[in-house]
Amino acid sequence: MQRNGAGAIAIDGPAAAGKTVVGTRLARKMGYRFLDTGMMYRAATVAALDAGADFDSTDELTRVAEAMDIEARAAADGTTQIVVDGIDITSRLRSHEVDSRVSIVSAIPRVREIMVAAQRKLASHGEIVMVGRDIGTVVLTDADPKIFLTATIETRAKRRYEEMKDRPGQPPLEEVLATMRRRDEIDSSREASPLRPASDAVIVETDEMTVEEVVCKLHDIARGNAS
Ligand code: C5P
Repeated sequence: MQRNGAGAIAIDGPAAAGKTVVGTRLARKMGYRFLDTGMMYRAATVAALDAGADFDSTDELTRVAEAMDIEARAAADGTTQIVVDGIDITSRLRSHEVDSRVSIVSAIPRVREIMVAAQRKLASHGEIVMVGRDIGTVVLTDADPKIFLTATIETRAKRRYEEMKDRPGQPPLEEVLATMRRRDEIDSSREASPLRPASDAVIVETDEMTVEEVVCKLHDIARGNAS
């Protein structure tokens, strides 16, 4: 049987649980590469928007994902860059418009198949921290450790709002909360690779923790000496 994820660290969890900021810092601390897989589904969403695709049509969204040439660069400085058809679109991935559509695209099994194959390829050399929704359950089932990072939806919506509030056109907190709730629901109830902790994942609730505390905890877990 093929082993996926030996020598990798998997971090899953709902939107704005802190996976990216914590994962990036953990990767730096350990000298590992870092890949934020959410950015790949976001890239497929940007490509669909650019193509004027109908978001009610699975066929159209699938065609866009199949046609795009996506390259995810897991850089040694802990950042992920996404290059689509030769153009770096990283700065376009975090808009509210993408937030509100990405779960439609990521629920399509064929889209997931394309992304998962690329993610496994990137992890094949080990020494990588990969974050997403299905890393421990589907993508890298041999990752060790597997972490499930979570916090209440109120904490997460507030974090996302604070992060984005200076951007032009940023919606109010209530709308951020509503979009996040919808995204959580779709991500958790979809048939293809729903969001859930792997049976062997360590669950870390971050409401009362600072980023630094979470990074230290994960570092301890990764070194096998968690309390
Ligand atoms: O992590 P982030 O919020 O950037 O992810 C955006 C969306 O991409 C999620 O809401 C989810 O629909 C999808 N996603 C996924 N599987 C992953 C990573 C992200 O379905 N491994």
